[in-house]
Order: sequence, then structure tokens, then C-alpha cells
Amino acid sequence: MSARVAFLGPPGAGKGTQARDLAQEWGVLHLATGDMLREAVAAGNPLGREAKGYMDKGALVPDDVIIRMMGERLAARDAAGGVILDGFPRTIAQADSLAKLLKDLGQTLDTVIYFEVSEPELLRRLTGRRVCRKCGHTYHLVSNPPKRAGICDECGGELYQRDDDSEATVRNRLQVYERQTAPLLDYYRQRSSLKSVSGEGPLGTIRDAIRKAVGDGP
Ligand SMILES: [Zn+2]
Repeated sequence: MSARVAFLGPPGAGKGTQARDLAQEWGVLHLATGDMLREAVAAGNPLGREAKGYMDKGALVPDDVIIRMMGERLAARDAAGGVILDGFPRTIAQADSLAKLLKDLGQTLDTVIYFEVSEPELLRRLTGRRVCRKCGHTYHLVSNPPKRAGICDECGGELYQRDDDSEATVRNRLQVYERQTAPLLDYYRQRSSLKSVSGEGPLGTIRDAIRKAVGDGP
């Protein structure tokens, strides 16, 4: 049985939703780097203050800070029963650091789940967001459409697509991910911890596939 699992996959693959639900079902910690950073900054601990220094300057928080934070988090009591790493690692360097961290803790990464989603489906998910110009309410053309096309249900304002959600920007994000992650998939394939699941279809079906890949949960 597997207690430490990483979910990998492109933006829009649905990792976060599955990680949240399965962490609850399995009684393990759900660890996503974004949340971890926000919590550390809010807690004001030394690493959080260090991270905030970079964020205040609009800079990316360097890998070594993230890794040290991850080390503290994995050593904490609420991670003792297991963890789902949501979208981490993203690079070979992070994967190596993670392996070292876990080894020092006497732990191993048991399974790496890769969420496979076709590019057209990712584009559909990631470019579908529409925002109201007047009140900021957000919609999604597929999963949460407004009653009348192009018009806000709340205030009658005009809906628009943010630049971040444009097809060109989304394609670029997906290419960056692909470039970083392809070598990572080989890395875990060689260590025979990689399992792929389809990230398309009903949420329950995807969840079943993950349960099966992990061996019916930790
Ligand atoms: Zn509105």
C-alpha cells in the first residue's frame, strides 16, 4: 500500500480536485506548493518571511526555499500518515531534491500519477473562462456558462476573456509545461513509479482509475 503519491499533469488536468478529494478519503495531507507558500507567509515563520521577501519584489521564490519548506512540511506530524503532492515536482532538479528529503526522513515516493489529457481538451478547459467587466464575476463556457451568452447573470455587464486565458497564452503555458515535464516522466518511468491515468471523463471514473493505480489507497 502506498502512502506517498505525487500527481503530475499539465495545467487544467484536474489534479487539484482529485488530490483534495482523495486526500480526504485516504486521510493523508494534500500538499500543493502554492498553498504551502501562502500558509508559510501567513504563519510568518522564518521560511515564510524569506519567501515573502521574494514575492514582495515580484520575483519567483527560488527552488531551495521551496525545497526547505517542503522538507519542514513533510517532517510535520500531519504528514506522517502520507501525502499527496499536487503538481510537485515540476523539474528533474526538484525531483532529485525531493528524493533526498524523503530519504532523510526515512520515506519514499511510492507512486507518481500522470494525468493524461489531450491538448484540445486542455485548451477547452483553460480558455473557457469569462469575467464580467462590471462586477468581476467569473463564468466558464463549459462548466458554468452564463444564462445569456456574453452577459453577466448577476449585473447584466459584458463578459470578456482575460489575456491570461487567451488561446495563445494557454498554448505557451502548455508548451513550457511539456518541455519541463517530459524528462520528469522518463525519470520516474526509469524508477518504475510512474502510472498514467486518463484525466478526461467523469470525475468518479478518473478517481477510480487513480485508486486502482495507487493500489486501492494507502
Ligand atoms: Zn457582473
